[in-house]
Amino acid sequence: MDTNEHKQHDLVNRLDAYAAWVGELRRGKSPPDLPEETADPLAKLTRELRLLADVIARREDQLNKLFEVVHTVERGILVEDVLDSTFKSFAAIIPYNRIGCAFLSDGGTRLTAFWARSNLGPLQITKGYSRPMEGSSLQEVFRTGEPRILNDLESYLEAEPQSDATRRIVAEGGRSSLTCPLFVDGRPLGVLFFTSREKRAYGKIHQTVFRQIAEEVATVIHRSRLFQELVERNQSLLRQAEQLKEAANRDALTGILNRAAVMTTLERQIRANAAVGRTLGVIMADIDHFKEINDSHGHAAGDMALHEFTRRLSAILRQSDYFGRYGGEEFLLLVGDTNREQVMHISERFRLAIAETPVDFGAASRRITASFGIALTSGAGESAEAVVAAADRALYAAKAGGRNRCVIA
Ligand code: GH3
Ligand code: MG
Ligand code: MG
Repeated sequence: MDTNEHKQHDLVNRLDAYAAWVGELRRGKSPPDLPEETADPLAKLTRELRLLADVIARREDQLNKLFEVVHTVERGILVEDVLDSTFKSFAAIIPYNRIGCAFLSDGGTRLTAFWARSNLGPLQITKGYSRPMEGSSLQEVFRTGEPRILNDLESYLEAEPQSDATRRIVAEGGRSSLTCPLFVDGRPLGVLFFTSREKRAYGKIHQTVFRQIAEEVATVIHRSRLFQELVERNQSLLRQAEQLKEAANRDALTGILNRAAVMTTLERQIRANAAVGRTLGVIMADIDHFKEINDSHGHAAGDMALHEFTRRLSAILRQSDYFGRYGGEEFLLLVGDTNREQVMHISERFRLAIAETPVDFGAASRRITASFGIALTSGAGESAEAVVAAADRALYAAKAGGRNRCVIA
């Protein structure tokens, strides 16, 4: 082989090596190092190919990070979770010390802060901070749809001293910002604000990067916001239903259980106590000469007496006991896990709580008393009506015996 032939052979070998190298790159593998070239034209090609490999690697990295943002953002469900994910995942592609999110409100006439995460100074713009859109520089951001860069917020504030939001961000320690409008189906939704403590933190690359995922981010934020509204509305409906159910069980004047509810509870408590071999005490209480209170002091005074009666007895009852209004001035008290002695003792306490302290009607004050009839039950087969009838008979005996007393069946 002469020198010329030798050179040609060498060149073919090297070109083969380059072709293999480009092939590896195309298949997404990291290509092996190329031999260092010197003065000949191949040296230039080598350099170019290396640069190309670097660019591709960077693009790929950036793409992966974008996917990561969209993916993490999609995983969150409630809007706060979504924004928290946003705060973390944007870190890889857009520099910031603070991210804030604000939504257009009041038919698009105001922008209201919703959420912020920051490692600058204490937040000066918090949830609910709201500014009119009229005359705001943000109108331009929505009009163009382009992320806006302010790379020296202090100078911007000097030029626009009326901008309250800028003053607050500068006070937090922000020195540059990237303001990204969010659109869903072409309609403006709100804004993501990136803020850095460094001046000149933002450039074209960040605008471009944001533009690439703006649609996905806006859609996910919008969806999670709708979902959250739905969840909150549902919770409030459930609360209302619960309150209605609760109110349906209550006596309007005294707030204790009404007749239907206390009878249902009695049915349940008879079984519950019998099931564990315990005795349930059922006390029927009736205010003495109540008609006379109404007649002497008026119906309103009678109502006050009923109210005071339930207040005093409620204060004595245990958490696990039940108290209901059976009729006008007749009440049922259900005392679980008791016996003759104990139920007699608690009834005496009830009686004294009423009899010992006069009831104040405002204009007048008078002593009232009540009578108590007690029945005990420990059989699962007993009906609520039968137990109440037994207590009522004991009550009748208490009345007949002179009132202001407790009688056990
Ligand atoms: P006794 O000692 O025998 O129980 O006599 P009493 O007057 O308490 O019994 P009676 O059953 O004759 O009268 C009960 C009264 O309670 C009659 C009714 O006007 C009154 N009353 C019933 N419900 C209410 C109410 O919600 N408010 C007021 N102010 N009075 C009521
Ligand atoms: Mg009475
Ligand atoms: Mg009565």
